[in-house]
Amino acid sequence: MPTIKIPTPLRAYTGGNAEISVSGETVGAVLADLLEQHPDLRQHLYNGEALRNFVNIFIGEEDIRYRDGLDTPVEPTDSLRIIPSIAGGSALELIAPDSVELSHDEVRRYSRHLIMPEVGIQGQRKLKQASVLLIGTGGLGSPLALYLTAAGIGRLGLVDYDVVDETNLQRQVIHFGSDVGKPKLESAAAKLSDINPYIVIEKHNTPLTSENALEILRNYDVIIDGTDNFPTRYLVNDACVILGKPNVYGSIFRFEGQLSVFYAKEGPCYRCLFPEPPPPGLVPSCAEGGVLGILPGTIGTLQATEAIKLILGIGQPMIGRMMLYDALNMTFDTIRLRKNPNCPVCGEHPTITELIDYEEFCGVPAHDRSEYKEKNAQHNVRGINVHDLKARLEAGANVVIVDVREPHEWEISAIEGSLRIPKGQVVARAAEIPRDVEVVVQCKTGIRSRDAILMLQELGFTNLVNLVGGINAWAREIDRTQPIY
Ligand code: ZN
Repeated sequence: MPTIKIPTPLRAYTGGNAEISVSGETVGAVLADLLEQHPDLRQHLYNGEALRNFVNIFIGEEDIRYRDGLDTPVEPTDSLRIIPSIAGGSALELIAPDSVELSHDEVRRYSRHLIMPEVGIQGQRKLKQASVLLIGTGGLGSPLALYLTAAGIGRLGLVDYDVVDETNLQRQVIHFGSDVGKPKLESAAAKLSDINPYIVIEKHNTPLTSENALEILRNYDVIIDGTDNFPTRYLVNDACVILGKPNVYGSIFRFEGQLSVFYAKEGPCYRCLFPEPPPPGLVPSCAEGGVLGILPGTIGTLQATEAIKLILGIGQPMIGRMMLYDALNMTFDTIRLRKNPNCPVCGEHPTITELIDYEEFCGVPAHDRSEYKEKNAQHNVRGINVHDLKARLEAGANVVIVDVREPHEWEISAIEGSLRIPKGQVVARAAEIPRDVEVVVQCKTGIRSRDAILMLQELGFTNLVNLVGGINAWAREIDRTQPIY
């Protein structure tokens, strides 16, 4: 029987199964069988009768869009794969080592490179001549910055405006305990200068926006996307296409990673694969869904490898291919990506020729949480802060708290007496939620609960209030016995 591999974000709807045997002779038929077995998947895969356009189905290495779509025949031995977007030739000669020389100290430092013919003195001069921009100095940015600095990239740009937080230390290995509270740029730059004093570090202490992206990216040879949100991913993609720069892409979620090099001059871009982002809230961010701390180490190191290959012009870059890493099964699979001739940014008749409003496009904020509050207001979700909730409870008000986090999170912290229904089940279990008393919906930080309220309002609920800041705000400000996570 054919099988369908289920990516982690969707395993919540298959009872945790990673691979499901299905029957049928076409893609449409096997998907119908899959949905028969797991009906909750339907809303994630289909919009009416059509596949949602951010859902990509592959048979082996091939995207069914480039075969016969849902009519593509399926053999009994085929393995299908659902590739979701997760909050890609020839060797390039980007760099000519024309003007730089290596000092005696540098020759000694890089001797393990110099004795390899694929790098050699010429290659090391290319690295010194090259400039790389890292967007983000977090989970992916940490190994990227450390290895690219050690390797002798001449000029390294870092874009970040965040400060180091204790919850970063589980994976962002460039930042140490003593850095908590410091700007990430300062923390990272201090380590990098210590590792290699011969490279120039340029700090861009700003969120990357449509207003500044072209100006910042323009000055670098290779762009590396180490961000964690869809608006910035689309912004980086479009800016790279417009400027003709290669974009070394990596993304991570829980136990899975993706790697590619998007270079529109020679292959597809991110939008060729994912023309539109998933609806807000469907794919959780790492802050919401979690990530194995070592995973960004694996993917970031692979991104650094691709950047170095591009600069040296050696090997086969990941242009037109995507690597899928599954840490639990320890598998690396590669799929082929195609350039979409109708791509809105790199296609034959592009409709996007300048940068747009990416937060609007994705429906989620890239940077500033205050914009979330505005969007809450637009969607008419009322909020309550933790102090007011405490006062209501102490006054004996009839308030029901609905906790929409996942079961393993309830074990970390919880408000006593809450009704516990994971966000993915609130619609199916709406009958359990009272409509005649005040209901406060709560998650970890207030984002999933807001989404849950929007879904329930569609069912006619008018008595729902969002707990602003979620259980973490409750733990921080009301009940110090609860951990913050
Ligand atoms: Zn494209």
